[in-house]
Amino acid sequence: MNIHPELRIHSYGHYLRQRFGCRVSKVNVDAGFTCPNRDGSKGIGGCIYCNNVSFSPKDTQPVIPLEEQMSAGMAYHRKRLGSEKFIIYFQKYTNTYGSVDLLADLYQRALNHPDVLGISVGTRPDALSDEAVELLAGIARKHYVCLELGLQSMDDVILSQINRGHTLEDFVSAVGRAHGHNFDICAHLIHGFPGETAGEFLKTAELIAGLPINSVKLHQLHAVEGTRLAEMYRAGEFIPLTLAQYVATAADFLELLPSRVTVQRLYGSAPLAIRVAPQWGLKNNQMWYAVVNELTKRGTWQGCRVDQAKLGLGS
Ligand code: SF4
Repeated sequence: MNIHPELRIHSYGHYLRQRFGCRVSKVNVDAGFTCPNRDGSKGIGGCIYCNNVSFSPKDTQPVIPLEEQMSAGMAYHRKRLGSEKFIIYFQKYTNTYGSVDLLADLYQRALNHPDVLGISVGTRPDALSDEAVELLAGIARKHYVCLELGLQSMDDVILSQINRGHTLEDFVSAVGRAHGHNFDICAHLIHGFPGETAGEFLKTAELIAGLPINSVKLHQLHAVEGTRLAEMYRAGEFIPLTLAQYVATAADFLELLPSRVTVQRLYGSAPLAIRVAPQWGLKNNQMWYAVVNELTKRGTWQGCRVDQAKLGLGS
């Protein structure tokens, strides 16, 4: 099986290293897209927690040509981690929201670099046209492709309250249309929405287990400046999870998540300058290890409650 003996999870980094035989890093780029939940075509104002500054490194501004962003990102990862190959991550806003010609041009520019193995494309489940799926399927015949679909919550009431502008059914439908084209599908999930209990959130592991999803990104809900959620926090309408609550539920979630699913993220981060709440005071790697250490403390591992995964066997 694929569980890393020390991390106790099937980490995406480990998966990439096994698949490609070298250290692979994702390099974020901003290709200048917008989002249909912000420009009025699906909704206005966006999701209540969305301020794209919170997930944009300062050197990925839309004015910077894609190739320059890639060079800067690759140099950073080469120096910091010794990475040899790269996956270009179209991250900011909705990266399938454009004509298929525009998408083809942007994706191909990323793939033109000899050290780029493939692309990862972040999008909304209701912004994935059949033409975009076909384009990605074509690319996946020669390169690695990961489609990252934001679900966030499987509860339609919560999706409505946070102004997501799509439903669980939209997500399931998008996964169904994307499946079978030889590319990975990643689901983005958030825990800690107002009114959500840990038990309700944990049902998401069962949903993921029943769908052809290859990896997940899990975040805690956090409020950043410039968002409706920050206003709600200040008005006492959003009470963030404590670190202990989040870590316990994340560990429970992992125990229920089949070991075949890789884990790309276990926390969300935002620049200190715009972070409102929660303020847990941990660096990124400390957040990651807070969850991993919880599994160690319990003597459990990813999938231990749902499949036959054994710790330490490797693959
Ligand atoms: S779908 Fe993504 S980019 Fe669009 S408003 Fe929501 S979080 Fe922001």
